[in-house]
Amino acid sequence: MTTLDLIEPATEKVLNTVAVTEPTELDDIVSRAALAQQRWAAQRPEDRAHVLAAVAREIEENLEDLARIEARNVGMPINDARGAVAGAASTFRYYSAAPERLLGQTIPVAGGVDMTFREPIGVVGLITPWNFPLTIASWKVAPALAAGNAVLLKPAELTPLSTLRLAELARRAGLPEDLFHVLVGSGTTIGRRMVEHPGIGKIAFTGSTAVGKDIARRAAENITRVTLELGGKSASIVFADADLDAAAQGLAGGVFGNSGQDCCARSRVFVQRAALEPFLEKLHAVVDDIVVGDPLAEDTQMGPLVSANQAARVQDYVQDAPVLFQGSAPAGPGFWFPPTVLYPLDDDHRAAREEIFGPVVAVLPFDTEDEAVARANGTVYGLAGSIWTANAARSLRVARQVAAGALAINSYTSVRITTPFGGFKQSGLGRELGPDALDAYTEVKNVFFNTVGP
Ligand code: NAP
Ligand code: MG
Repeated sequence: MTTLDLIEPATEKVLNTVAVTEPTELDDIVSRAALAQQRWAAQRPEDRAHVLAAVAREIEENLEDLARIEARNVGMPINDARGAVAGAASTFRYYSAAPERLLGQTIPVAGGVDMTFREPIGVVGLITPWNFPLTIASWKVAPALAAGNAVLLKPAELTPLSTLRLAELARRAGLPEDLFHVLVGSGTTIGRRMVEHPGIGKIAFTGSTAVGKDIARRAAENITRVTLELGGKSASIVFADADLDAAAQGLAGGVFGNSGQDCCARSRVFVQRAALEPFLEKLHAVVDDIVVGDPLAEDTQMGPLVSANQAARVQDYVQDAPVLFQGSAPAGPGFWFPPTVLYPLDDDHRAAREEIFGPVVAVLPFDTEDEAVARANGTVYGLAGSIWTANAARSLRVARQVAAGALAINSYTSVRITTPFGGFKQSGLGRELGPDALDAYTEVKNVFFNTVGP
């Protein structure tokens, strides 16, 4: 049996050792999932709804345990981890309503009745990243099961623990065996095999744009469906009339949360020149106050980065960039990195262009509204963004012009379970969450019923 040691980012010690799924097991796992899926789809909708609601309750009853697992494996502050667990329960509860609401349409046609059905895809492969493992697992597992599919989930190699626990809890809640299987292993072994497996009808992936492109290419072979939630280089645009205290606080929340390891991180902040000095002053104070430390301590606001590799990667970006100021970070052991503000730098500096995935923000002054929009859009990405201004008309005008899937006005949040989430351009394909996720896990079937004869 091959095993994998998991390193705790805050201590650099081995946290746990897990068994790796051998790629040779995949055929059998897919066959069993296909059988389980047929039985699941044939169950009464109210019974499927009941099981998903029971999963939500199990998650809630094990909130503290799951939160500690996530905090230690990812390095996420415990209070954020508790929020993530509560969010996972809410996601299961939200989609527990779906089995009884998978509505079709009737469409007027000549000679009969035409109707549509939303059919499950079958066996669906899910691949998740290490930054929000439980959260992103729930975004995929809950709607996929609600729509009548079986799921195989490959978590990131670094952070499988909360996903393994979720699968156990789902089983305990009454989810039939073989309907939700966790595959532990690396992306290039078991992940790639999933993408290429003809028995898997859909891949829902969250991760980097580079891997997303590889998945799209390989999935093309069998016309395997894909949903891709990829990287970002999102912008905050702060106009001079904005509430600068709220904007500085919001900027910190929007880029230093989860140590910047957030696909929605607003890692570029465009500030209207008239507000630049006071904004930087406020931002400096906010950064100085961020408590970086032990993820299990109640007052911690920012933990370590997930791995030594990630810390080296972030350091590499900061090394050749102008650092205006940095907050604090503990000395080792642990993969610590202080909140960091870069200024001044050009839009085409790689720290202003590429996704860093660390607690680093580039401050970029602008003069006019048109200029801010054009520069915010000057990226291959289009995931999220924020607009800070007291001018309501302008806020919505700008929001309509920024090419991104999740925008917030006078706020830094991007995600709500009940609303669609996903990227424009190279930030992705398809939408998760809200009602849209059910489209992602179903096929539309059209049936014509002849009422004329014979
Ligand atoms: P990653 O390297 O792309 O990996 C994501 C997942 O894909 C992991 O489970 C990984 O497995 C697997 N994988 C790697 N290569 C694969 C391949 N060739 N075929 C199939 N699967 C493969 O991303 P990450 O480093 O974990 O996470 C950071 C990235 O995720 C960032 O770019 C971030 O923006 C993005 N992200 C996007 C969203 C969103 O919703 N848009 C949310 C969160 C994160 P192993 O780890 O086991 O190798
Ligand atoms: Mg990776």
